[in-house]
Amino acid sequence: MKVVCVLYPDPVDGYPPRYARGHLPEIEVYPGGQTLPTPEGQDFEAGELLGSVSGELGLRQFLESRGHTLVVTSDKEGPESVLDRELPDADVVISQPFWPAYLTAERIANAPKLKLALTAGIGSDHVDLDAAIKRGITVAEVTYSNSISVAEHAVMMILSLVRNYLPSHKFSEDGGWNIADCVSHAYDLEGMDVGVIAAGRIGQAVLRRLKPFDVRLHYTDKRRLPKEIEEELGLTFYETAQDLARNVDVVSIHAPLHPETRGLFNTELLNSMRKGSYIVNTARAQIVDRDAIVRALQTGQLAGYAGDVWYPQPAPPNHPWRTMPFNGMTPHISGTTLTAQARYSAGTREILECFFDGKPIRDEYLIVQGGGLAGTGAASYTADEDDQKS
Ligand code: NDP
Repeated sequence: MKVVCVLYPDPVDGYPPRYARGHLPEIEVYPGGQTLPTPEGQDFEAGELLGSVSGELGLRQFLESRGHTLVVTSDKEGPESVLDRELPDADVVISQPFWPAYLTAERIANAPKLKLALTAGIGSDHVDLDAAIKRGITVAEVTYSNSISVAEHAVMMILSLVRNYLPSHKFSEDGGWNIADCVSHAYDLEGMDVGVIAAGRIGQAVLRRLKPFDVRLHYTDKRRLPKEIEEELGLTFYETAQDLARNVDVVSIHAPLHPETRGLFNTELLNSMRKGSYIVNTARAQIVDRDAIVRALQTGQLAGYAGDVWYPQPAPPNHPWRTMPFNGMTPHISGTTLTAQARYSAGTREILECFFDGKPIRDEYLIVQGGGLAGTGAASYTADEDDQKS
């Protein structure tokens, strides 16, 4: 079979980079008990850069030893791209949300042999799920592989916005000692109301990590958490994102992008929030209205916006979020630490082994299978009902 793998480019100083640490801590099991990926073998050292083109997710030896062809590229945009040229006879397409191979309905139509769209990471909104459902393509992702990585990043961004860390760091780097300038926009997080949009794997991990900061915690989700968890964390539940947004100082977004969440944070919702609120979005850019965020920062309705998700990705050099006031944006990196890469590369191999050997892919890894949403996809996403066979 032919496997096309779309990965982000290597570091500008070449591959491999100089690694800061020699080993990674061992995690036994994910919170809640889900086991880590269990591939039959592994051809990389945990801690290597696997997500860029030369890292190949550690898959080449495995795939070629089984007689498969592996094409790895970062060239993914436009009809002349390597991705578009390779699609017509591709059986499997793998990509990471950080450098997504947008599998639009048109591209899926140009890939008649495509059977598996695999996300090395979490979040398969770069695949047109309705088109995948219609074509019977399996869509799978490595659930939980980088959830804690993202949760840590979100907490870092919340603190960095509220404490005005990045502008203050800039003063220090530039040789200044402008304490008044630094602190004119700096507050303590303690005592604030902090809410998450969706309390799934990442959202819950964010709530747990914020609990020791003595904040009041709030959440909304399609399903209410068990009473014991609400009591343990002191959570206030809201039926809707709108209700939550007007009752908090900080919002962290952790819902998948699907029809229910697309464009959720529009001008009306932003204007209903407390003046000087903060938003951190490590979920997906299109959950918020791009220009409404810029305007809210300019008027002071928002005191800060940070995140690592953009649309499209990579973001163009003139994307307004690069330069809007009080932004703490990074490229899409939170879920691709070296730690996370080891886990999702192993999970990618596990899914491929199942796929090639005709064994069931773990339910928690499935988004679409057999002409309908499946597994995690059935729990978290929505699709056009007419497209669902069952
Ligand atoms: P989970 O599936 O564990 O959690 C998602 C939660 O969102 C579920 O509890 C789901 O509800 C809930 N949800 C779905 N729709 C809505 C809605 N309309 N309103 C409120 N809640 C909703 O996923 P993760 O926590 O692991 O990941 C969340 C998202 O984070 C991913 O979809 C992805 O987009 C993003 N992500 C970003 C990364 C990055 O690098 N920045 C890396 C990994 C993920 P229920 O299940 O109850 O129906």
